Amino acid sequence: MPKYIFVCGGVISGVGKGVATASIARILEWYGYRTTCLKIDPYVNVDAGTMNPIEHGEVFVLKDGTECDQDMGHYERFLNKELTKENYMTTGSVYLSLIQKERSLYFDGKCVEVVPHVPLEVIEKINRAQKLTKSEIVLIEIGGTVGEYQNLLFLEAVRILKQKFPRDVLLILVSYLPYQGEGMELKTKPTQYAIRTLNSAGLHPDFVLARAIKPLDQIRKEKIAFNCNLNPEDIISAPDEKLIYKIPLNFEKDKLGLKILKKLNLKPRKKKVDNKEKWAKEIEKIERLNKEVKIGIVGKYFKTGDFILSDAYISVIEAIKHASWSLGYKPKIDWLNSEEYEKDKNKLEDLKNYNGIIIPGGFGSRGVEGKILAIQYCRENKIPCLGLCYGLQLMIVEFARNVCGLKNAHTTEVNPKTKYPVIDILEEQKKLLKEKLYGGTMRLGDWECEIKKGTIAYRAYKKTNILERHRHRYEVNPRYHRILQKYGFIFSGISQKGLLVEIGELSQKNHPFFLGTQFHPEFKSKFLHPHPLFMEFIKSAIRLTSN
Ligand code: GLN
Repeated sequence: MPKYIFVCGGVISGVGKGVATASIARILEWYGYRTTCLKIDPYVNVDAGTMNPIEHGEVFVLKDGTECDQDMGHYERFLNKELTKENYMTTGSVYLSLIQKERSLYFDGKCVEVVPHVPLEVIEKINRAQKLTKSEIVLIEIGGTVGEYQNLLFLEAVRILKQKFPRDVLLILVSYLPYQGEGMELKTKPTQYAIRTLNSAGLHPDFVLARAIKPLDQIRKEKIAFNCNLNPEDIISAPDEKLIYKIPLNFEKDKLGLKILKKLNLKPRKKKVDNKEKWAKEIEKIERLNKEVKIGIVGKYFKTGDFILSDAYISVIEAIKHASWSLGYKPKIDWLNSEEYEKDKNKLEDLKNYNGIIIPGGFGSRGVEGKILAIQYCRENKIPCLGLCYGLQLMIVEFARNVCGLKNAHTTEVNPKTKYPVIDILEEQKKLLKEKLYGGTMRLGDWECEIKKGTIAYRAYKKTNILERHRHRYEVNPRYHRILQKYGFIFSGISQKGLLVEIGELSQKNHPFFLGTQFHPEFKSKFLHPHPLFMEFIKSAIRLTSN
C-alpha cells in the first residue's frame, strides 16, 4: 500500500508549500523511500501555458511538454527526477477528463455529481501518478490557501482518502505566523483559524510547518497545540531561509523525517537511495563562499502596482546559482530593465559592471528594442552573453541588423511586415493560431538536438546528441541561415537536418562567450547537477571577475 502526504497552505499564498513539499520528499528519499511529488492548481485553466507570468509566475515545462506551475521545477531540482504530465493537475484538467468520461458513457447512465465524482477523479489521477512512478510515498501539494472556495474539492479528496486509509495518509499544513516587529511575538491566531477551517472540511493536520521570519519557540508551539488539539512536537519551526536547499536539513533538525515515517508506520531504511552527506557538504561549502560573480538579467520587469515579481525567471535564477556554486562562486544577480535602455542609451554602460548578461525568454514587443541594444553592447564590448529562447532570437535580430547589414530585420512576432523576417513562425503554427488553438500548441518539451564539434556547445555537452526542453512558436528563419553563417554566426546545435537552429554562437576567437539557445536549458538544471551550458557561461563570466 503506497502512502500519501498532502500539503496545503494556511493564512497566505506563497507561503513556501512548493519548497516544503520538495524538501520533505528529499528527506524521505534520504531515508530510503521512493517518492514523487504532484501539484494541484485550483485554476480552471487546463494548464499553466495560457497564464500570464504576472498572474502566475514562471511557466515551467516538463520533458513531455506539459506547461505547469513553477513548483514542479522545485520538485525536479530537489529530487533530481524528471516528472511528467501525470504529476500535475488543475481544476480545469480534472473537469475535462471527467466530462470526457461522461461523454463516452463511462458512468453508464448514472448522474455524475460534483461530489463525489470530482474528488474521486482527483484520487484516480493521484493513483495513476503513483503507479507510473512506482513511488512508495506520494506527496501532493494543494495550491491556494485553506478557506478559499476553489480548493474545497481537493480537500474533500484528502478527506475521502484519509477516512479510508487513516494510517497511510497524512496532511501537513504550511502556515504563516506574522511578526509585527521588535517587542512583539510571532502571532499564532491566523494559524489557529486556518486549522479550524481545515476542521470544518472534516480534516485535521498531522503536522503544522510554522513559516515565519523567525523560528517558532516552545511557548507558541504549545499555544497552537493546546488550542488546536495537536502535539507540540508536530509543530515544526520553519523560519525564512535564503538558501532553499538548506530547508530539508533544517526540517531534519526537528526530526521531521522520522516523525513522518512513524506516523506512516514506516521504518527508516538502512540503504540510502541518495547521499545526504553530499548534500550537507555542498550546503556548508556554499555558506562559506566569498568570491562573487555578478550576473545581470536583462528582461522586462514584471511589475504589478508597486511590486516587482522575480518569480517569472525562477528557473534561470536557480540555474545560475547551481553553476556558480559548483564553480566556487556566490552569484550576485541583478534585474536590469530593458525599457531603460530604450529611453537612455547611456545606461548601457552599466552592463560593464557585470561579468555576464542573460537575455531570458519572453513574448511580445515590450522592452524588445532595449534587449537588442543590450545584446549589441555585450557583443561589441565582449561581455559574456547567454540568450535563452527569445534571447537567442533577439541575438539573431541584432546580428542581422548590425553585422549582416539587414536594416530593420526583425522577428515577425514584433513586426509582421519586416523586410527581413530573420525570425519567423512556422507554417504549421500559423494554422493553429488562425483557429485560435493557443493552449498546449507551441513547440514544447524535449526535442533532439545535434551538436557540432569544436564549438562552445560541444565543449559544454561533450557529446553530439542531446535533448532539451522547448516552449516557443517562432524559429530562426531557414531563408536567412546562409547569410547569418556567412557573417560568422555559428549554428552549433541544429535539428531536423539543419532546418531548425537550436544553438547559435560566435567564434571564441572574436568573443569570449556569445551563445543563445532556442530551448530553455534552465529547466534541466538541478541542485548538485548544474547545466553544462550554464557552467560554460559562468566559467567565462568568472574570467572577468577581479577575485
Ligand atoms: N516569443 C518567442 C516564441 O514564441 C520566444 C518564446 C520564449 O522565449 N519562450 O518563439
